[in-house]
Amino acid sequence: MKDIIIVGGGTAGLTAAIYARRAGKSVLVIEADNCGGQIINTPEIENYPGIKNISGLEFANGLKDQAESLGAVIESAKVTGLDIKDGKVKTLHTTSGDRECMAVILATGAKNRHLGLENEEEFTGCGVSYCATCDGAFFKDGVVAVNGGGNTAIEDAFFLSNYCSKVYLIHRRDAFRADAKEVAKLKAKENVEFILNSTITALCGNGDLEYVELENTLDHRKSKLEIEGLFIAIGQTPDNKAFADFVTLDEKGYIAAGEDCKTATKGIFAAGDCRTKSVRQLTTAAADGAVAALAAIAYCG
Ligand code: NAP
Repeated sequence: MKDIIIVGGGTAGLTAAIYARRAGKSVLVIEADNCGGQIINTPEIENYPGIKNISGLEFANGLKDQAESLGAVIESAKVTGLDIKDGKVKTLHTTSGDRECMAVILATGAKNRHLGLENEEEFTGCGVSYCATCDGAFFKDGVVAVNGGGNTAIEDAFFLSNYCSKVYLIHRRDAFRADAKEVAKLKAKENVEFILNSTITALCGNGDLEYVELENTLDHRKSKLEIEGLFIAIGQTPDNKAFADFVTLDEKGYIAAGEDCKTATKGIFAAGDCRTKSVRQLTTAAADGAVAALAAIAYCG
């Protein structure tokens, strides 16, 4: 029986673990994949206060090390459900068995969104990737494309332009969600070409990806683009269905909770990208981790 169980070992979850351990609470972090969350896919962080420049992986490793050195236990398992018995005790059902605690912090983050094309799964690992820092090296000196217009896509394209002979940036509009500074930096690269107002309508190849079919959103003209690799960076989507009996989910699946990180159920808190909010950044994930942990500490008494 732990005081606090944190579901998810990303920035929000690990920050919550640090705060809870420093308050003397027993803490278990349950993470289904690798600790660190989405940030491990970011080649370079330049906007975390006090750190001028750091890779996402280095940042995540530092956070994990900090949480563990303070005594947080990290377990690798997937949480499949939640029950509450005797009023206060929460049971988390996991792929490694049941775990009990007083307070739960849901810091489940969000997963990479897929294009939803017919053979997307089939080409994943055979030319299609959702992580430039993980798979970019496979395409050294090759021709690749990145799809998306947010910070992830722009940063991925910049990262790949250092290794690949040519990088296409395909985006469905001609305006970007990404920071203007990052877009300008990418535009200055000679081996990067922007294909705007375009969507990918088909992934084609015999075994490995060979080309994509594009459609121009303005004149609906179709074209083919030969590439060896496609990096899909079109945002994230949450997965909180396992907790739907105890928390309210919005229409997109995010957990309804205010800045106090409190959900519809006492003793269950939501922190980071899995929570309804307008800004999802590393700094806001860390801030949520602290807020949720302090609320959970107060709840445990
Ligand atoms: P995002 O900001 O949500 O951008 C997703 C992009 O994908 C948008 O340009 C969107 O187009 C496009 N898109 C969405 N669905 C699509 C579809 N079905 N087909 C084609 N295009 C589609 O996602 P993100 O770039 O992963 O960033 C997520 C959050 O993390 C953001 O808050 C971002 O600022 C933050 N982040 C920060 C850093 C950093 O500060 N260093 C690095 C990475 C990410 P539309 O614009 O047309 O909707």
